Amino acid sequence: MHIAIIGNGVTGTTCARFIRKFSNYKITLISGETDHFFSRTALMYIYMGHMRYEDTKPYEDWFWKKNNIELKRAWVKNIDFAGKTLHFEKGDILNYDKLVIACGSKPNKFGWKGQDLKGVQGLYSYQDLELLEKNTQTKINRAVIVGGGLIGIELAEMLHSRHIPVTFLVREPNYWSNVLPEGEAKLVNNHIKEHGFDLRLSVNLDEIVADENGRAKAVKVKETGEIIECQLVGLTAGVSPNINWLKNTDLAIQRGIMVNLHQETNIADVYAGGDCAQFNDPVEGRRPIEQVWYTGKMQGKVIAENICGRKTQYDPGPWFNSAKFLDIEYQTYGVVFPNLQEEQQRFYWEHEDGKKCVDVVFQKDNRQFVGINVFGIRLRHELFDKFLREKKSVDYIMENLQAAAFDPEFFKYHEQEIISAFNQQTGANIQLKSKKGLKAFLSLMRR
Ligand SMILES: Cc1cc2nc3c(=O)[nH]c(=O)nc-3n(C[C@H](O)[C@H](O)[C@H](O)COP(=O)(O)OP(=O)(O)OC[C@H]3O[C@@H](n4cnc5c(N)ncnc54)[C@H](O)[C@@H]3O)c2cc1C
Repeated sequence: MHIAIIGNGVTGTTCARFIRKFSNYKITLISGETDHFFSRTALMYIYMGHMRYEDTKPYEDWFWKKNNIELKRAWVKNIDFAGKTLHFEKGDILNYDKLVIACGSKPNKFGWKGQDLKGVQGLYSYQDLELLEKNTQTKINRAVIVGGGLIGIELAEMLHSRHIPVTFLVREPNYWSNVLPEGEAKLVNNHIKEHGFDLRLSVNLDEIVADENGRAKAVKVKETGEIIECQLVGLTAGVSPNINWLKNTDLAIQRGIMVNLHQETNIADVYAGGDCAQFNDPVEGRRPIEQVWYTGKMQGKVIAENICGRKTQYDPGPWFNSAKFLDIEYQTYGVVFPNLQEEQQRFYWEHEDGKKCVDVVFQKDNRQFVGINVFGIRLRHELFDKFLREKKSVDYIMENLQAAAFDPEFFKYHEQEIISAFNQQTGANIQLKSKKGLKAFLSLMRR
């Protein structure tokens, strides 16, 4: 049995590792990007000089041979699903018995005039990192980043580390406000401005203007007609599944490659997972396309289990995620929509320093906890996972927020403040736990 895996990212690699664990099948792990699996999330640290590329590889180079996983560095040009054959860009072919497609995402481009000029780029691949290095070798007086979000803020931080002034063009009225509620999005706005970035909100890119050498020299803002001179344009308006190369085949595709909860596509012996996959019937409370690291890892494992005859469904549990906006860490558990749903209520607390906040959403009728966003405060994942699975009430959450704290310093200073604000805003009467009560609760949870 030969398993071919397209994509050596976290999904493809996890899949290969687990197939090896469960079987002696022949495995070929293919990628056009790099010889070895590396952590895409650490790209920024390479540019900023905190890590070398070698340090971002989760496995040593000898790991693959030792585990009998064959690596192939090549771009797959197309797939003959009927003949079970991969055709590579250089003309060679590879036959498979089962195929895993884990080909990731690509940065969005919305057909802007000038989007393919020199000096215009996204931030996704190792090649993008190399290009950024090249693009910032000459003097950059200003860079413009188009699109706010988690990759945009990383690119801004990277450029900031090289003292390159940055203007952000963000379509939404507040930073990442298609995901974050207003309180958090405004907190992020302020933090970005505080770092000296020129944040322009509610504006769209009209076009990127070229110089006589076909290189970006300015951007034009749609709403105001303003021309902003710049030598680098970063396009970070989100990512979408990297599926264009798979169109016009028998593979069912919508926004991503359609899969069921076993990660099976519509074609027998072909599986897909990670950023490129779209669930036709997603798990309750989860989106059809999930483009984060841990979900790729989980999905890679599910594929391996199914290939090896251990029928398994994708069951990731309640949604969670974490990220960083410059100096402020962000965590989310459960589902906090940017706009409150009709049946929901919110408790929002923000520290006077404007760098920490808690946003809790719950059902109005039975006070069931729905989700929480925290900025500048760390909470324990395992407890919130349990609270959500057990459908606890918001009062239970607030009573035990103290126990969920990851950063004892925070609670030393803010626990009383948060609970008092909660009581005042929602009419509850929560009391802080005594030290003894807290200890008893934690030991109960650990069982
Ligand atoms: C800058 C950045 C920062 C991020 N930070 C975070 C974070 O902090 N936390 C988080 O959870 N997520 C983060 N993400 C998202 C996370 O990295 C992705 O969700 C995850 O890496 C997707 O893994 P994957 O295996 O599905 O796809 P990928 O990692 O994209 O791997 C797919 C691989 O397939 C290769 N490939 C594609 N097509 C072909 C072909 N035709 N032939 C051969 N090879 C092909 C690609 O080149 C690539 O190497 C970040 C993403 C970026 C870009």
